[in-house]
Amino acid sequence: MATTRSRGSGLKRASREAGSPVLSHDLLFQEMAAAVLRAAVFLSLCAGSLTLPSGSRQTRRPSCGYEACHETKAGALNVHLVPHTHDDVGWLKTVDQYYYGARNEIQHAGVQYILDSVVRQLLSDPTKRFIYVEIAFFSRWWQQQSEDMRSAVQQLVNQGRLEFINGGWSMNDEATTHYSAIIDQMSLGLRFLNDTFGECGRPRVAWHIDPFGHSREQASLFAQVRGLDTHADRLADCTDSVQHTDDRLRAQR
Ligand SMILES: [Zn+2]
Repeated sequence: MATTRSRGSGLKRASREAGSPVLSHDLLFQEMAAAVLRAAVFLSLCAGSLTLPSGSRQTRRPSCGYEACHETKAGALNVHLVPHTHDDVGWLKTVDQYYYGARNEIQHAGVQYILDSVVRQLLSDPTKRFIYVEIAFFSRWWQQQSEDMRSAVQQLVNQGRLEFINGGWSMNDEATTHYSAIIDQMSLGLRFLNDTFGECGRPRVAWHIDPFGHSREQASLFAQVRGLDTHADRLADCTDSVQHTDDRLRAQR
C-alpha cells in the first residue's frame, strides 16, 4: 500500500488547467459537499502510509485529526501502516449477500463481521487504528447497534482511532460512471457521516484503491470537496505500466 500525499490546491490547479467540463454540477457539488462537511475538523491520517515532514514530532491528544496519529520519531522516515478493508457494494454477490456473508461459495465476504471484529479490537486496544470507506455498509451496521455500542463507536471516531476516508455510499468505479451519479453517491455517504458523527466524521482522504481506470473527472471532483487533502489511487497493473512504457518509447522514435 503506497500513498502519495497530494496537496488539494495542486489537484485543483491541475484540473482547472486540464479544462474540466464540470459546469452546473460543479457548483452544486461544492455546495453540497461544503454543507456536509462545514462543521468538521480535520480527521487523522494515520491511514495509509502518510509521510510526515522529517523531524516533526507529535504529541497524541484525545481528539480526531492528524494530531491523533501516533508519535513520530524526529530525523527518521516514519511509516504508518493502518489496517483497512474494501467492501464492494455489490460485485460478485448482492449487497445483502456481502453484508450478511451469504453465498460464500461465490466469494468469502461478510461485512457485518468485519465491522464487529474491528470495533471489538479497537475497543480492546487504544493503540490500534482502522480506516473505513463504504457508508452503505457502515450505515446498515450502525442501525443494528445498541445505544451503548453507538456511543463507544462515537468515542473511537472522536479519538481518531476509527477514521472514515472517502466517505461515499460506495467506492465508485471511474471507468463508466457519470459525474452526476458520483456526486449523488458521495453526497449520500458524506451526509450520513456528518449527521451521525459531526466534525470527526469528516474524511480527509480520497481513497480510490479499487476502481477500474482513473478518470480526470474523478480527481477534479475530489479536488473540489473541501477538506479532502489527499488522493490515493491503487497502483497501476504491471502490464499497464509496461504498455505505457512501450507507448512512450514508440513516441520518442
Ligand atoms: Zn472493489
